[in-house]
Amino acid sequence: MNDSPQKLLHSLFGYDEFRGQQLAVIEQVLAGGDALVLMPTGGGKSICYQIPALMRTGVGVVISPLIALMQDQVASMQQLGIKAEALHSGIDWASQQKIQQQAINGELDLLYVSPERLMTDACMSLLMSCQISLFAIDEAHCVSQWGHDFRPEYLQLECLQARFPHVPRMALTATADRPTQQEMVKRLGLQQAQQFISSFDRPNIRYRIMQKQKGRQQLLDFVQLQHEDNAGIVYCMSRKKVDETALWLSEKGVAALPYHAGLGAELRAHNQHRFLNEEGLVMVATIAFGMGIDKPNVRFVAHLDLPKSIESYYQETGRAGRDGLPADAWMVYGLQDVMWLRQRLEQTDMDQAIKRSEQSKLDAMLGLCEITHCRRQAILSYFDETSSSSCGNCDNCLEPVATFDGTQVARKALSCVFRSGQRYGVAHLIDILMGKPTDKVKQAGHDKISTFAVGQELDQKQWRSVYRQLLALGLVASDPEHFGGLRLLPSCRPLLKGETELQLRLDRKVSVKTGKARLQIADDDQDLWQLLREQRMALAQDQNVPPYVIFSDASLLEMLKIRPQTLLEMSHIHGVGEKKLDRYGDEFLAVIRQHG
Ligand code: ADP
Ligand code: ZN
Repeated sequence: MNDSPQKLLHSLFGYDEFRGQQLAVIEQVLAGGDALVLMPTGGGKSICYQIPALMRTGVGVVISPLIALMQDQVASMQQLGIKAEALHSGIDWASQQKIQQQAINGELDLLYVSPERLMTDACMSLLMSCQISLFAIDEAHCVSQWGHDFRPEYLQLECLQARFPHVPRMALTATADRPTQQEMVKRLGLQQAQQFISSFDRPNIRYRIMQKQKGRQQLLDFVQLQHEDNAGIVYCMSRKKVDETALWLSEKGVAALPYHAGLGAELRAHNQHRFLNEEGLVMVATIAFGMGIDKPNVRFVAHLDLPKSIESYYQETGRAGRDGLPADAWMVYGLQDVMWLRQRLEQTDMDQAIKRSEQSKLDAMLGLCEITHCRRQAILSYFDETSSSSCGNCDNCLEPVATFDGTQVARKALSCVFRSGQRYGVAHLIDILMGKPTDKVKQAGHDKISTFAVGQELDQKQWRSVYRQLLALGLVASDPEHFGGLRLLPSCRPLLKGETELQLRLDRKVSVKTGKARLQIADDDQDLWQLLREQRMALAQDQNVPPYVIFSDASLLEMLKIRPQTLLEMSHIHGVGEKKLDRYGDEFLAVIRQHG
């Protein structure tokens, strides 16, 4: 193909212009150079290797860690009229033979393979007999031994450089941190590669973290009010809670499915398939559900339990809104979560150094929950990215948090821990502060200590909030050996001695009922929107592909807005390239015309 990258972007993909550094990456590879590409999820990494693979002679070999990802990509490419295939264990022998022959004959644009297959002798000798336009190593952070997605087979990819010295290599990932970056360069032999590093910000995602009261009910309100009919993921810590939550949501009329490692491979695959191929399903899952979820129109990610680090939080919430349309990252958390996570860490027998590192990651996560300024700024600065202004698209920006001078109440809360012997739980401590002479308080003689009844200024909920913040700040710890009893940590000393002051967060009233859906279809447009989606679903089912492979939500929304009447007008819609215009243009025009 002799077209320019711009022309291909337009004619094949139906997009008007390149995003961010896409064109620079493409030019680097067209010139024969290597590239390390770090772009956030949804940033548009695939086009960075797809276009050069089409323009250079030979087949572009894409190394991808998961079959589901490959299948999705191949289906999308084929929709655009690009000759793409994948070699993996799910493909029968005869088809594999055919695909290999096509690769040798130079009839393929793109070939997707898993890293373990790539390194087999058979595959290597196949590649030796093909002309190869480039190697694209997707999810390249899997090469990092410290990361949570480590795949040993990725380590062997270093040999590509020696075996195919003249083929450009690209490593692509959405994983942010610097150590991983350096490891990719080292382990994949990318010292000569040009680095393309984009901001990790996901501006379309709105972050919200609020106090947990009745977590499940809060979730239900959120889903029903703001995400009716939308696809979303709900993360829970335990399998049991996943099962219960999925069942409960279903009973309340929200179409929800469970997903966790205890479910058996078949049911898991079935639920994942449904999530990808149907519209508007909610997947309730442990973190076992995640990588390989390329579904672009996940409208929300909700956490009913606190992730153990900002890295995990960012990766999980990042699965929302790959299509760039408004999406929500929603989380509830409370005192119990803090205690539980802290205790769990305390009880594991990890190496001390690892434990300390986990500890500080958890501290950062708790800090993110409790901060009163822009959450996005805090997240980005955690990843060493500075942004000078607040984002205007997180809860703290949208509804500023009130703070109060908590010095006095914090001191009371701390001395109550001390006076009662540093082994009682929050409920008991609050009874003492509020002067409730319960049996337990009297038996322990705590109605006689100096902190008895000194805390009438706050109610029980407010005291819980104070203790939660003290725990999150690391001024007290909860002791697993004393059933969650609190003890003081050295860091509380300056406060107790009157050397420092403490601002605390004034918890908001939980007011989910006021939220409004952000991707709202106007009432007048509802009918046509449903018809367009039905048309898309019918075409998808015919071909056994997910609906978003036919057209993205962004394309359908633009059709809804513009209401094209001719093929020419249709060709200007975002995501309508030549092939899709050819295949589906008339059908969607008919839907629009019929609707009038
Ligand atoms: P990533 O792999 O970085 O998460 P993708 O390559 O899947 O992201 O791209 C995310 C979405 O953005 C896809 O639907 C893709 O077609 C779309 N996209 C990519 N580049 C552009 C562009 N230049 N203009 C409009 N949409 C784009
Ligand atoms: Zn903000």
